[in-house]
Amino acid sequence: MPRFNSKKCVTCGTVTSVFIPLEPSRNYRLVPGKHGMDQMVSADTGVEYVYQNGRLLMPCRGCGRLRSTSRVIGVIRSDRPCNAKCLGATGHHCECACGGKNHGAGFEA
Ligand SMILES: [Zn+2]
Ligand SMILES: [Zn+2]
Repeated sequence: MPRFNSKKCVTCGTVTSVFIPLEPSRNYRLVPGKHGMDQMVSADTGVEYVYQNGRLLMPCRGCGRLRSTSRVIGVIRSDRPCNAKCLGATGHHCECACGGKNHGAGFEA
């Protein structure tokens, strides 16, 4: 499962992060959305994520507006323990033991 992080929201300045599968799973079901875009709906929270042209849009944690996200690209570095810096990261490139799994997880919706 990849992690996706948004940039700072232009409206409220909040960063949002989500760990979401690309394919439907037990916790996420794929539903046909408006305008022909697929939506992945979390069974736990009911939050709707939108796939558009291979990009994932998700509601901002702060204001709820749909924000585009980028996938975190991680390099697993077993010599660099994952720490608070990784959890609080807002970028999209991770080099630590988690391999990108926890990168920005502190901003999880
Ligand atoms: Zn916002
Ligand atoms: Zn990291």
